Amino acid sequence: MNIVNVGYQSTNYYAIDIKGGKLLVDCGWPGTLPQFSAELKRKGIGIQDIKYLFVTHFHPDHAGLTQELKNLGIKHLLPDVQVDFVSQLTEFFKTKNFPYVQIQTDDSIRLQLSESRKFLAGIGLAGEIIHTPGHSDDSVTLILDEGFAFTGDLHPVFVLPEEDTVSRQSWDKIYQHKIVRIFPAHGK
Ligand SMILES: [Zn+2]
Repeated sequence: MNIVNVGYQSTNYYAIDIKGGKLLVDCGWPGTLPQFSAELKRKGIGIQDIKYLFVTHFHPDHAGLTQELKNLGIKHLLPDVQVDFVSQLTEFFKTKNFPYVQIQTDDSIRLQLSESRKFLAGIGLAGEIIHTPGHSDDSVTLILDEGFAFTGDLHPVFVLPEEDTVSRQSWDKIYQHKIVRIFPAHGK
């Protein structure tokens, strides 16, 4: 399994091998497409190699480039639990001076999480996407059966306050799978 960190500006973005190209997990701030392209190039990946994008949650440093990437022909996977959160990101950028391109979800691929294993198998990945709220209600985690978990901004257990039972339950859900390596959206 080839997984490449194509992150920049202190956020990790992961390009994962799939059938005929790459799946991208998360994407950067609006207007950073040149930086992203440069980072891909440095890692030997062409932007045309990326076939699918999904974001772990709709925060600006994880989903800001979504529409810009869609406009390049990259297909956006939209888990059912995230549908209502796209507009929150649009709302966030309304008052800010970013070259944000508003995300249009009508042509995104809606994904029932219960069907995610089937969908991923179709693009050559053995695994599933599960709902892991805590950092945000729309946070999801990609689990690959070889034991890899892409957890977005779900905070590590050792920094969680005792009362954050939602995040703790999400980690419990993640560790119901055999996990050997965590790929967080920030840090190592
Ligand atoms: Zn976040």
